[in-house]
Amino acid sequence: MLSPVKILLLLAVIAAVIVAARFFRKPENDGKKKAGRSNAEGETTTEMIKCPDCDTFVMSLEEHNCKS
Ligand SMILES: [Zn+2]
Repeated sequence: MLSPVKILLLLAVIAAVIVAARFFRKPENDGKKKAGRSNAEGETTTEMIKCPDCDTFVMSLEEHNCKS
């Protein structure tokens, strides 16, 4: 026997699954959009450092030479 309560519960479970699927998919899509910075997990030195002298973002201040 299918009672209205069981049907409502079934719909609630389906809705919860759909919401959960959206919740887990969204961060993945955002991560792919932002993946332009660091494509590989091994590369952790992709953060840019702002040079205090010429305000230029460089990979490392040690290798950077300001154009005087
Ligand atoms: Zn500089």
